Amino acid sequence: MHSEFANRLCIDKDLKYLKGVGDARAKLLASELGMHSCSDLLFYFPGRHVDRSRFYHIRDLYGTEMPYIQIKGRFINFSREGEGRKQRLTATFTDGDRLCQVTWFAKIQTIGNMYRPGVEYVLFGKPAFKYNAWQFVHPEVEVFDPERPPQGLRGIYGLTDTLRKRGFTTRLMQTLVANLLDSIPEGSLPETLPAEIIRERHLVSFDEAIRNMHRPSSMQMLQKAAERLKFEELFYLELHILEFSRKRNLQLKGHIFSKVGPLFNKFYSDVVPFPLTGAQKRVLKEIREDMRTGRQMNRLLQGDVGSGKTLVAFMTMLLAVDNGKQAAMMAPTEILATQHAEALARWAQPLGISTALLTGSTRTAERRRIAQGLADGSIHMLIGTHALIEDSVEFRDLGVAVIDEQHRFGVAQRARLWKKGTVPPHVLVMTATPIPRTLAMTVYGDLDVSVIDELPPGRKPIQTWLRYDDNRNEVYRHLYNEIRKGRQAYVVYPLIQESEKSDLKSAEEGFERLKGLFPGIGVSLVHGKMKPAEKDFQMQKFASGGTSILVATTVIEVGVNVPNASVMIIENAERFGLSQLHQLRGRVGRGAELSYCILMSKRQIGTDTKKRLGIMTETTDGFLISEADLKLRGPGDMEGTQQSGIAFNLKVSNLARDGQIVGQARDAAMRLLDGKMLLLPDSIAILNRELQIRFARSIDWSRIS
Ligand code: ADP
Ligand code: MG
Repeated sequence: MHSEFANRLCIDKDLKYLKGVGDARAKLLASELGMHSCSDLLFYFPGRHVDRSRFYHIRDLYGTEMPYIQIKGRFINFSREGEGRKQRLTATFTDGDRLCQVTWFAKIQTIGNMYRPGVEYVLFGKPAFKYNAWQFVHPEVEVFDPERPPQGLRGIYGLTDTLRKRGFTTRLMQTLVANLLDSIPEGSLPETLPAEIIRERHLVSFDEAIRNMHRPSSMQMLQKAAERLKFEELFYLELHILEFSRKRNLQLKGHIFSKVGPLFNKFYSDVVPFPLTGAQKRVLKEIREDMRTGRQMNRLLQGDVGSGKTLVAFMTMLLAVDNGKQAAMMAPTEILATQHAEALARWAQPLGISTALLTGSTRTAERRRIAQGLADGSIHMLIGTHALIEDSVEFRDLGVAVIDEQHRFGVAQRARLWKKGTVPPHVLVMTATPIPRTLAMTVYGDLDVSVIDELPPGRKPIQTWLRYDDNRNEVYRHLYNEIRKGRQAYVVYPLIQESEKSDLKSAEEGFERLKGLFPGIGVSLVHGKMKPAEKDFQMQKFASGGTSILVATTVIEVGVNVPNASVMIIENAERFGLSQLHQLRGRVGRGAELSYCILMSKRQIGTDTKKRLGIMTETTDGFLISEADLKLRGPGDMEGTQQSGIAFNLKVSNLARDGQIVGQARDAAMRLLDGKMLLLPDSIAILNRELQIRFARSIDWSRIS
């Protein structure tokens, strides 16, 4: 697992030669933990530490469960209880003042013969208060040695069941690590960060950090050690990402759009029916800056659902047309592409701009017409699905490509758009999955980030309620009242069909039930297993007001716009992630009416789930929600992060929890690349060695002035 570090350290020798390991244990460590060399063990940090610097008295234990502690005393008696496999060995232990119970369920024979009454022992474990006494189960036991110095903080290492069964204990791991650390002269582990950075950030040395991760001299040193290793990891990640994107920027020449021409100006002054929000204006300015530089723009536009990204996209596309180029917009679903095409056509028409829609279901004749129009330049804007990136689609001169809902597209697909022209088009990627800025800068490291952090004025916040299955009648009454007022509603289910394996509610079942409950009210059903044409038909029927209720699975999550819909009911809401709930909720609240989002859940839910659903009822701020989501789930799970193209392999740091260190690391990497930090030759050697080990690449520092 950590073998990549092996060649850096002089201690890359095979683990089996380490004192206390040998052939058999080395094989186990390799197969169970992927450890091969001594440096792998060195980088196998404890999951937590326990304080062995003091002995507790039984009378001082408190609560019902203590952390790992140690007590000193004597066994009074042993007794075997139970029969056969349920047999156990119990002992009474005293620290001279009070009594406690010790229990073993395995190795009873050996243990029974091992410990003697009268001898002074140290018990080490995690006592719990049960049956009116403090209980230790399978504690570690050792003979008390008055000569031995106090041990301080000790690491607890993650072990697999197999390792445990084969005799690996916390104690053994500590001994092995101690053997290793003692075999390396103090201060001799080679430094992995430039001295300039260590000095500036007051970091502890690599050698100190490693030793203190395993055997910290104090809680404070443990923290410093962790901080240093986190900084180091994030610093190299940022250095790698930043330098990579700079190089790309230098290489990729882009179109220069010097003109904010008549179309853009006319649209702004005559066509757009409302004033732009401050955030929209700011983002457009950032985009225009990009387009003047002569480098290809690669920008991520983040904005909550309903924040008005489409308008920004359209105006960006106008810049292309104003400068004699074409523009394209790609959406992840046919429904969404169609909606975009309609919105854009409405805006484009008064300007005399021609648009076209290309999807998988576009007929051959229309395809031919589009191909012709793209080639001769008479189509200015093309909107569509994946169909856009097919090889047969050729533009005369593509200047801007917009990709909506980034997380549905991979980096590879984005790159295919680039190839549609000799000069790559400027690329604007839009996402409604808000990612906190520090994370976004790292996850989408190859993109610049713009944020629309403001909703158009006059939006009424969506009322969000949490209701349980036994409130169902009340919920349906509310639904009925809204429909009678002429509104429409979504009801979302986690499953398509009923399943014997799960007690989750299904869309098909819900569809039948709602039809039965509300005779005379039109109900549509869409789910992912329907044929696209049938799905579109049902969607369109709902969108045009032909039906009042849309029963769906999460296929409707992305982008659909039905302003008259004012109710969103989400069944088994406990099964959805926060970001997904937020996306779903964003389907309502798009019109002038007060809207409702009702989260249905079973009554028995865990505390984390309750917390999650509670956040939804408290805020509609996508960034707060995404931050909370990140804290609850960690970044690995976040939609979009996997496809970002950056292999995250963080060992000590956590992008969610270490946001501050991410910022500092990024800042240091940036200053280094800007030539604002003077480096000695030794430091440059360190940087290149580390980049080589971590990312198999190096940087030509002579280019950085
Ligand atoms: P999203 O960012 O989720 O893609 P849209 O672009 O679909 O949001 O915009 C949502 C709605 O808000 C649309 O009906 C759009 O016309 C409207 N809108 C966009 N910008 C503004 C604005 N500045 N003022 C008022 N309404 C706006
Ligand atoms: Mg949108």
